[in-house]
Amino acid sequence: MLTLRNIAELVLVPPGPVPGRAMGDVRTVTSAALAIEDERIVWMGSDRDAPRSPGAQELDAGDGCVVPGLVDCHTHTVFAGTREHEFVERIRGKSYAQIAEEGGGIRVTVEAVRRTSSQELIALALRRLRRMLHHGVTTVEIKSGYGLTVDDELKMLYVVRELARLQPIELVPTFLAAHTVPAEYAGRTDDYLDTLFADAVLARLRDERLAEFCDVFCERTAFTVEQSRRVLAKAKRYGLRPKLHADQISQMGASALAGELAAVSADHLEHIDDHGIDALHGAETVAVLLPGCSFFLGVQQAPARRLLDADLPVALGTDYNPGSSMIESLPLVMSIACTQMRLTPLEALVAATANAAAAVDRHRRLGAVQPGMQADLVILDVPDHRRWMYEPGRNCVRTVIKRGQVVAEPSAREE
Ligand SMILES: [Zn+2]
Repeated sequence: MLTLRNIAELVLVPPGPVPGRAMGDVRTVTSAALAIEDERIVWMGSDRDAPRSPGAQELDAGDGCVVPGLVDCHTHTVFAGTREHEFVERIRGKSYAQIAEEGGGIRVTVEAVRRTSSQELIALALRRLRRMLHHGVTTVEIKSGYGLTVDDELKMLYVVRELARLQPIELVPTFLAAHTVPAEYAGRTDDYLDTLFADAVLARLRDERLAEFCDVFCERTAFTVEQSRRVLAKAKRYGLRPKLHADQISQMGASALAGELAAVSADHLEHIDDHGIDALHGAETVAVLLPGCSFFLGVQQAPARRLLDADLPVALGTDYNPGSSMIESLPLVMSIACTQMRLTPLEALVAATANAAAAVDRHRRLGAVQPGMQADLVILDVPDHRRWMYEPGRNCVRTVIKRGQVVAEPSAREE
């Protein structure tokens, strides 16, 4: 048994999906302790009553706050190359669409990923994952979608599988071949989809367990609602559950489609409408918001409060990618959600733990502080969760615990 003692505040995040109106009603215990056995939480309560069994190890939380390990439920962490040139162009007034028309944008990353060996992609992503772990992230979803040929998409998914073996963060692989139409298929979108979603490809993903989810970028500049419906329905027959990049740039019915397909999550939602909200509600689809992306691009945020008021389970992710959100830190995104979307710190924490776990179908095991849940925990260098989000940009993580083991100690205790 491992017992965490001297916890200033233990946040009792319940298992997800937590509906929007309940996301702020989470209990906390002050002067708390928590016991772990066989990778699971077995007890929590007041520090006075902490179980003392012979041979038990103790870990002093040093009057820090303890929260569940964070789940980053939407990332594009495997990529090569950077695009700071576009960052400057945007500051000077060019839009994302203009930059794409001039040959920049996602194509630059696709070319770089195709040229880069698996070994180099692994080396690049390992450094990113180590930094994410140091920010308290213990589970990360990673999408393919920068290969856009059968072989290069498979290469990305094999890279994710190898990364899962090489470091402590649990990884969730998603097939996103329908990210954009590659240049060599310009004007032949359906041919592209037929090639990437051929039966042989989907059977291989299923048989080798290379992906759990299938995601589509449903947008004017990428794939129509009709095309998205077709490939997601087909992938579902091969056991890949649907997700959607929905309503990011325009409203064309993508969130309604997510509801129709009972997608696990609908992500982005900057332009969601009432029809989309109703559809997600009926399907119990998690609404994944990515405020770091709008922050990075300097555009309008998704209407988070409306989604919470509609009682949808809302999750947060970084959307970490080299074009529209070069942000590895989920705590920074939580802080942005507080100040730009008016989530309370407690709501942001539930969104990045219990509800993010629901967005990757791991809510029965991850994202909550409750007996029986896996012991993925973060000890903070601050005494309560509000202080964490009140200091954006400072890494307040002291110790990261994955499956009951200390896996990172990013910051020594401050005096
Ligand atoms: Zn994305």
